[in-house]
Amino acid sequence: MSYGNKSEIPRLLREHGIQPTTQRVEIAHVLFAHTEDPETDHHLSADDVLVQVNADFNRVSKATVYNTLRLFAETDLIRAVYVSASKVFYDANTAPHHHLYDEASGSLRDIPADEVDVTQLVPHLPEGVSPEDLDVIVRVRA
Ligand SMILES: [Zn+2]
Repeated sequence: MSYGNKSEIPRLLREHGIQPTTQRVEIAHVLFAHTEDPETDHHLSADDVLVQVNADFNRVSKATVYNTLRLFAETDLIRAVYVSASKVFYDANTAPHHHLYDEASGSLRDIPADEVDVTQLVPHLPEGVSPEDLDVIVRVRA
């Protein structure tokens, strides 16, 4: 589902238990606008979001952007992809998929979930448990 239309966003936030303040709606719009076109990069850093939200909205502080992204990730509205301690991407695509990270360019791309056989990665789970979530990040360098 696409939420490039800003009028849809307050309802989406409420569905995740988030009070849709004006600033939160603007930040969500920046994140979800990128899911419209699969060719554009929809993995944004907090600084990317900060720049884009302030391009057409009157001043959202860095602290507000960081706190809002954390809230969005905690409520599963978006997904945080931790490439390293200092490199976190925020992904509006919460459907199961994996990632390819290019160390040279610093870009992150999707790998469709069905291209990674997770049963090969977790063959011996303890009895009675099942994988709830599994994120693969393949780090490459040209
Ligand atoms: Zn992704």
